[in-house]
Amino acid sequence: MTAKISATVITGFLGAGKTSMIRHLLGSANGKRLALIINEFGDLGVDGEILKSCGIEGCEDGDVMELANGCICCTVADDFVPTMEALLARPNPPDHIVIETSGLALPKPLVKAFNWPEIRTRVTVDGVIAVIDAEAVAAGRFAPDLDAIAAQRAADDALDHDSPLEEVFEDQLSCADLVVINKTDLLDDSLLAKVTGEVGARLRPAVKLVRGRHGAIDAEILLGLGAAAEDDLEARPSHHDGVEDHDHDDFESFSVSLGELRAPEDLLTRLGPVISTHDILRIKGFAAIAGKDMRLVLHGVGGRVQHYFDRDWHPEEPRETRLVVIGQTGLDRAAISAALAG
Ligand SMILES: [Zn+2]
Repeated sequence: MTAKISATVITGFLGAGKTSMIRHLLGSANGKRLALIINEFGDLGVDGEILKSCGIEGCEDGDVMELANGCICCTVADDFVPTMEALLARPNPPDHIVIETSGLALPKPLVKAFNWPEIRTRVTVDGVIAVIDAEAVAAGRFAPDLDAIAAQRAADDALDHDSPLEEVFEDQLSCADLVVINKTDLLDDSLLAKVTGEVGARLRPAVKLVRGRHGAIDAEILLGLGAAAEDDLEARPSHHDGVEDHDHDDFESFSVSLGELRAPEDLLTRLGPVISTHDILRIKGFAAIAGKDMRLVLHGVGGRVQHYFDRDWHPEEPRETRLVVIGQTGLDRAAISAALAG
């Protein structure tokens, strides 16, 4: 069992200074191999470009991945999870993964996604960091440019929550392990003390506040929080707890064994309808086909089912068909197993 890879989730509204903070983080990472997943987009969709061309040694193009299909918490299964899996499948995976969320994303559903079966065993959430714009918070706006945020909201077709900024702000704070009060140079001491007091009052116990200018906070402070946030979600209240229509729940998986098949066609024909009928997020596994030395790989996501022979069965492996079914909690295991057996 190797050590888990740490991931840091960075929240904060458009313009709060997440990108400059990440740039500084890259420059102070001391040889740690960081990968970035960027979800910030909209009219400032330049984040990816800024970071890709940062020119910092050891920061390569391939280490910056953009999720441009919409709010990261609303596209967890379609976009975020496959991106994480691709990062983990690399021959030389990163030491640390930094995820910049879109300012409108709710942090808790994203942290929940780290309980996805294949991510949970390999990655832990080292910390959730909220970056706030001191001046905007002092002025009661929460974000520096409300028009830009309205445009971002309008441009995001995937966004399935319409929360007021204050709620998103409170969710960012109550899920945080560390809060960066940025742009402190724009406030005088008394206003800054007021903001610090107000923000501090909304945090969970033991959550630290750090003050920064232009996001210049070192990696030593930002990384290595060791929070394992995915394990204490209950301690992180959200305005969206218990909201049934927000499609972010826990995941479950189970496996189905089918023995050796005479031919693959029947099973392949059944997979698509089973996936759609039971709202399954993914089915994957191997099939043993009579008379074939090789095992058949099966991989179904959404409506697409891939299949190909990858290698001979090893002598010690049981020749059987075994599929893992992954979905949101509440899968009808008996019905799915029966439907797969045909
Ligand atoms: Zn979302």
